[in-house]
Amino acid sequence: MQCIVNRRAQFSASHRYWLPELSEAKNIEKFGACSRFPGHGHNYVLFISLLGELDQYGMVLNLSDVKQIIKQEVTSQLDFSYLNDVWAEFQQTLPTSENIARVIWQRLAPHLPLVRVQLFEHPELWADYIGTGMEAYLTVSTHFSAAHRLAHPDLSNEENTQIYGKCARPHGHGHNYHLEVTVKGEIDPRTGMIIDLGKLNQVIEDYVLEPFDHTFLNKDIPYFAQIVPTAENIALYISNLVRLPIEGLGAKLYKVKLLESPNNSCEVYATEPESMSVKGVPVLASV
Ligand SMILES: [Zn+2]
Ligand SMILES: [Zn+2]
Repeated sequence: MQCIVNRRAQFSASHRYWLPELSEAKNIEKFGACSRFPGHGHNYVLFISLLGELDQYGMVLNLSDVKQIIKQEVTSQLDFSYLNDVWAEFQQTLPTSENIARVIWQRLAPHLPLVRVQLFEHPELWADYIGTGMEAYLTVSTHFSAAHRLAHPDLSNEENTQIYGKCARPHGHGHNYHLEVTVKGEIDPRTGMIIDLGKLNQVIEDYVLEPFDHTFLNKDIPYFAQIVPTAENIALYISNLVRLPIEGLGAKLYKVKLLESPNNSCEVYATEPESMSVKGVPVLASV
């Protein structure tokens, strides 16, 4: 029987987005505050996912061995380092989250049966790398607050209550929605980026947060006058809103995940989720 096991590790490190072949003005234009001398730091959190058969002791691998390998090959070298200088790979390609995840994969692949390297720069920004060349995934997490009512306009109150329960009450109720937008793209061999993060955040702001935040979705968003704003329909609509603008930035929308409450969330894949599976096991499914 095959199983994926995940091991968490962390390191603190600094970096700076600065290309010496560009002028100061160009660096500032391209990288904004991330270009500032002498750099800035993050408390990175790393998840290493490993796939294998269970051994006679009921384990894929002995996790104390895994811990040692990750420490020796990655975290002891990166912790309290200046990433741009610490590994030669980062002199060629800037140490963005997606590129750090890729290089960590390359460093660990000779030692461990990797299926995914996931690196959090902070709780609202993380990269996933699954060993496919320069391709990587970047997820931004954000939130908005909105009210809704689950009721189909063509049905009676009784019918809606039968289908949607309390959620059909006539004056609505609200949620603090958490939204995760995952994009997929090729890591630029020099900047280390799959997308301009500032522009991605601006797309999410312009197409979702600004129009959705502090609204009554059924009344304020024309699309939801006829379409019942369930979490599923909201996620689908958001994925339709941001897909083309993200393509305009040179990446592809991969997934929209909408968390309505700690108990309930949904995911919409803009591309086939099967493409992200290893031997039928989806490796980007988040918890
Ligand atoms: Zn940074
Ligand atoms: Zn609700």
